[in-house]
Amino acid sequence: MRIVLVGPPGAGKGTQAVRLAKELVIPHISTGDLFRANISQQTELGKLAKSYMDRGELVPDSVTIDMAKDRMEQADAENGFLLDGFPRNVDQAKALDELLTTEGIKLDAVLDLEVPEDEVVKRIAGRRICRNDSSHVFHVTYSPPKKEGVCDVCGGELYQRGDDREETVRTRLEVYHTQTEPIIDYYKAQGLVVTISSLGPVDEITQRALGALKREKAEQ
Ligand code: ADP
Ligand code: AMP
Repeated sequence: MRIVLVGPPGAGKGTQAVRLAKELVIPHISTGDLFRANISQQTELGKLAKSYMDRGELVPDSVTIDMAKDRMEQADAENGFLLDGFPRNVDQAKALDELLTTEGIKLDAVLDLEVPEDEVVKRIAGRRICRNDSSHVFHVTYSPPKKEGVCDVCGGELYQRGDDREETVRTRLEVYHTQTEPIIDYYKAQGLVVTISSLGPVDEITQRALGALKREKAEQ
């Protein structure tokens, strides 16, 4: 399956993506994780991305689209992928459509995770991620690690993302509403959007998502 996950920052995209990718046996491609890996490796791309991420703004399309394309063209993504955090504006969605058309493939669904803003703010405030791999995600109260400050998956150090500070979160939510939300209408016009509530226990949401994706696939 080829799936795009959308939803505001803190909706639970990364949390669900890891589970859905495992269940559906497709790679989880997160542009945020790719940028963070570039930052920790101190690449030129990482340096450029960091200046935008620290302000809560989108990294320019010119570099983001190339990075996402390169990842999608890797062998493990040949039969499907789960995109998390890409596309994030209509121009990126159009670039993705072009790539898919060139390859003669189509998206199966755009899974839209709905969460009220006050909940998103609480989730972001308590989020802690792993230094080794930013897809290892915890929450100080909703999903605490077994040992405080230590990643359950790999033993890495947990930290709070710089862009999870309150001032930056406000900008990120605004960027989501003005730049990312319009892609939902863009994909609605293609009949691809499946909306589910991202409230409740993580495993329940995974089951809700799998059920919704199955129904969407059966209808096509
Ligand atoms: P996103 O990738 O959409 O920004 P994350 O998956 O990183 O969101 O989740 C944001 C925070 O909320 C994390 O700290 C995560 O542990 C927590 N979280 C995710 N899903 C839930 C849930 N269903 N209930 C409570 N907290 C959650
Ligand atoms: P995320 O990990 O998805 O919350 O993304 C963290 C930050 O990375 C965002 O606030 C942006 O600065 C940047 N980013 C991630 N994905 C994209 C994208 N598709 N386009 C532009 N910037 C992105």
